[in-house]
This record gives sequence, structure tokens and C-alpha cells, in this order.
Amino acid sequence: MNPDLQKLIALQDIDLKIAELHKQISEIPLKTGELEAKRQRAQSSYEAKDEAAKKLAERRRTLEGEVELARTRLARLKEQLMTVKTNKEYSAMLNEIKGAENQIRGEEDKILEVMEALETGDKELKLAEVAMREECAALQSDIDKVTAAAPALESELEQLQEEQAGVASQISRELMNQYRRIAGGRKGVALAEAKDELCSACHVRIRPQMYADLIRTEAILFCDSCSRILFYREPPKPESAQPSVE
Ligand SMILES: [Zn+2]
Repeated sequence: MNPDLQKLIALQDIDLKIAELHKQISEIPLKTGELEAKRQRAQSSYEAKDEAAKKLAERRRTLEGEVELARTRLARLKEQLMTVKTNKEYSAMLNEIKGAENQIRGEEDKILEVMEALETGDKELKLAEVAMREECAALQSDIDKVTAAAPALESELEQLQEEQAGVASQISRELMNQYRRIAGGRKGVALAEAKDELCSACHVRIRPQMYADLIRTEAILFCDSCSRILFYREPPKPESAQPSVE
């Protein structure tokens, strides 16, 4: 194989790794942002439940206050009952007493309902708090992991960029320009393996003459269809064939 082509293959490999690293690094803020938003959602969902429980407790206190007032009124009415002079006044007073007693019973029923709801709510709230704390801790640990991976990716990128410069410096300027131009318009992939008489990138059949030239000569040839630089790899000999890792 043309030695320049071999270097281009190595360069392509490095370039694709660099592109992948750039992608991974650029996705870090997005990933941590999503995780942070999830964490905040879990927290606000719990806080809403906590707020509802507080409102319920407040309602209980209000109802208890109302019962207290009604009891005071009832006591006063019962005192006044002793001092009435006429039957008419007496029966009016009895009606008022009955009304106050009814009110107290009604409020007490409501208090019981609220207390039951509070008890159930309290258990649910405690479970929700445990679940929320677990979820938030797991999300925070994910955020930390994603953030902690950045320096390693950055240093890997730096190392690859050095390798990239090293390999690129060994390739002729003309071929490098061709490579960059082709890669630029094709998602960074400027090379394509010629295999089974097909271009492995665009899957278009290669002319037999060109395929033969690829195998036998060191000419730099381009796919007629996608214009990528074609290369041909000798198929491994059966006895020396390595098991594929892919
Ligand atoms: Zn092609």
C-alpha cells in the first residue's frame, strides 16, 4: 500500500477519535444540566407534598380554634339560660345552644377527617422524603461522575492532537489538502475501504479496472461516486487470521 495512504488511514483514525472526544466534551454541560434539572424536579415534587401537609396541619389548627370559640360561646349561652325570664326567650336560647352544639360536632368531625388525612399523609411524606433523598443523591453522584470525566477526556484530546500533528506533518501538503477538503464535506470521513469491489462508505460498485489498480498499484484513487480516497487491505490469510474484536 502507498505509504502516504497508510499515514492517512492512521490520521483518519485519530481525527475520528478527536471528533468523538469533542462531541463527548461538548455534551458534558448538557448532560449535567439535564441531571440537575431532574434533581430539582425531584426536590420540588417533594416540597409540594411537604407544603400540602403543612396546609393540612394549619387547617387542623384553624378548626381547633373554631371549636374553642364555639365552646366558649356555648358556655356563655348556658350561663345566660339561667337568667332568662320568659318562655319565649328560653326557647330561643335553647335553639342557640343547639346550634352551637351542632357547630362543635361538625367542626370536630372535620378535625377527625383532617387528622386521618394527616396521619396517612405523614407516612407517605416520610417515604417520599427517603425516596427523594435517594434519588437526589444518585443524581448528584451521576453529575459528579460526568463532571469528573472531563479532565481525562481533555488530556486524551490533547494527546491525540499531538499525534494528529505528528502524522499530518509526514503527509504531503497536497494530499493533506485533498484529505481535509473531502473530510470537511463528509462528516470527517475522507477515506473508504474498497472491499468486495464496493466502496464501503457509499456502497457503490467500483469499476473493475480501478479495483484492480487499487490492489496492484500505489496510486491514490478516489471513489467515482462519493469522491472519498479509496484504500484496499489485503484480506488476512486463513492460518494467520486474528479473531475479530469488533
Ligand atoms: Zn464511495
